[in-house]
Amino acid sequence: MTLIDGKVVAAKVKERVAGEVQALQEKTGKVPGLAVVQVGEDPASTVYVRNKNKTCDAMGFKNYSLHLPETISEKELLGHIEDLNANDEVNGILVQLPLPDQIDSDKVLKALDPAKDVDGFHPVNVGYLTTGAPQLVPCTPAGIMEMLAHYEIPVEGKHAVVIGRSNIVGKPMALLLLMKNATVTVCHSRTQDLVGMARSADIVVAAIGRPRFVTADMVKEGAVVIDVGINRVDGKLVGDVAFDAVAPKASHITPVPGGVGPMTIAMLMDNTLRAFKAANGL
Ligand code: NAD
Repeated sequence: MTLIDGKVVAAKVKERVAGEVQALQEKTGKVPGLAVVQVGEDPASTVYVRNKNKTCDAMGFKNYSLHLPETISEKELLGHIEDLNANDEVNGILVQLPLPDQIDSDKVLKALDPAKDVDGFHPVNVGYLTTGAPQLVPCTPAGIMEMLAHYEIPVEGKHAVVIGRSNIVGKPMALLLLMKNATVTVCHSRTQDLVGMARSADIVVAAIGRPRFVTADMVKEGAVVIDVGINRVDGKLVGDVAFDAVAPKASHITPVPGGVGPMTIAMLMDNTLRAFKAANGL
């Protein structure tokens, strides 16, 4: 069994991106700009945003992040988005979810300039991905593809079972695997015989949000197991896969923490660099 080390792969991506940023700065005098927009004080969001800001600074990106009050109106927030859309030095905009109840998240995500939508959630980017011409791709599934490539795990012709169908992880994951010629099954809360489906998979991606949902009886001997879940149980982080029981059966498996998690920020920086290059014709 090979442990897929997200920290190693994320470091490799970040090193490449930071190197490219430095080279482009020498060539053009410009660096990519990223705006992470946080509304309110959700504790999990605060941790994620702090990490994103730290990474942004450490990698030589310019930081345009905004921390806005919990009570902000939808109109005011949309005004900030408009300003960021209009600012040529801002190449990537990410609105940290969840947003407070008075704000329609869907409306805010659709207000982003698709060329700056580094989370890849705008319907325009979803459309590009669906038609097989991806531009800005959601960071978590993009990071998983990067890990599979790093470990030279074959995808073509394999049966991939994605458990979870969210717009953030499950659906884009299925599309990316399909683009690499996997045969993809998407399972969700209404799926019949989920155990049988999962057991027939060469690659299982668990993006459910339920601690240790994927048990050893659901995994074929030699399968590749990717655990996206982040669940807090008794103060400890655990994934959607019952790691200790599943790992001995798997050919490759991601741990939680230290698996998919670190890839997400790395791919955010990669997306911002991509948006910068596209905006500057580089
Ligand atoms: P979500 O709640 O939006 O979607 C969960 C999906 O799981 C749904 O499509 C639902 O149909 C499916 N599901 C729920 N219960 C099920 C059941 N009993 N059987 C089968 N399917 C079931 O969640 P999400 O945003 O996709 O996130 C999933 C998990 O991944 C969460 O734990 C989240 O914290 C984590 N996550 C991690 C990262 C990362 O960077 N590692 C990024 C995003 C999300």
